[in-house]
Amino acid sequence: MKIGIFANDNRRSQEVKRQLEIKFHERHIVMDNQDPDIVITIGGDGTLLSAYHHYIENLAKIRFVGVHTGHLGFYTDWRDDEIDDLVVSLQSDNGQAVSYPLLDVTVQYTDHKIEHYLALNEATLRRIGSTMVTDVYIGGELFERFRGDGLCVSTPTGSTAYNKSLGGAIIHPDLEALQLAEICSLNNRVFRTLSSPMIIAPNDWITLVPGKGSDFLLTIDSDSYHNKSVARILFKVSKKRIYFAKYRHNEFWRRVKDAFIGDDYGD
Ligand code: NAP
Repeated sequence: MKIGIFANDNRRSQEVKRQLEIKFHERHIVMDNQDPDIVITIGGDGTLLSAYHHYIENLAKIRFVGVHTGHLGFYTDWRDDEIDDLVVSLQSDNGQAVSYPLLDVTVQYTDHKIEHYLALNEATLRRIGSTMVTDVYIGGELFERFRGDGLCVSTPTGSTAYNKSLGGAIIHPDLEALQLAEICSLNNRVFRTLSSPMIIAPNDWITLVPGKGSDFLLTIDSDSYHNKSVARILFKVSKKRIYFAKYRHNEFWRRVKDAFIGDDYGD
């Protein structure tokens, strides 16, 4: 079993990385950042997202393990003071894994070029300078003409990220569903949108067909693609998934509570 380490530049993350490297060396654990079986990320959820995109071509064979050096994360199960326990778990690894759904995005540009992306959190289509007008199709059928700043399609594990800031629901990652959330929709007597987030079933798909424009902003997780002439975008649940080494069980709703509610309710 070969281990890769992917740390952010934060001083504490680099320190944890050095400690892990020493422990691996002492225990003859093989390190290989080129062709790893397990990738340990050190940082936060943002670091895990970067590692996911770095290793995106090898998702089927890699299991991720997230160590956080900031606050508790959604993809990061281990605290930075628990690395001894993590090393013990790695040494008794028997291939245990949990996997989560990913978002498959196919973008067709007006010059007929087609690009594919695979998002872990979400994809958004936005228009910055003027109203984005987009026809929204669910499962091939026209649902509405959206007007506003943009639309966000998220995965269950991405539902606690940008989607949550848009008023979207939090989805348990055992559910293989996509969520469509509006970004500042225009609603008045003339223009109307659903104005509620929608949860899309796993065998359904979402298509956006924007009006003319060469100034669309497409985001895939942390990556932004500016000034794009988008003809249509298709979103569906990917057949690929992301795998995490599951050495212990962190209950999802407890994680949500820790991140957003805490223990201090006030009086
Ligand atoms: P970033 O600064 O790396 O991340 C922004 C914040 O989102 C960080 O606190 C990060 O946690 C947290 N985060 C990332 N994935 C999450 C998840 N699945 N559940 C809960 N929190 C999560 O920003 P970025 O590089 O531009 O974008 C990365 C992600 O940040 C995007 O995919 C998007 O979902 C999110 N984002 C949210 C907003 C918003 O809520 N208004 C705006 C922009 C981006 P860590 O501190 O642990 O890294």
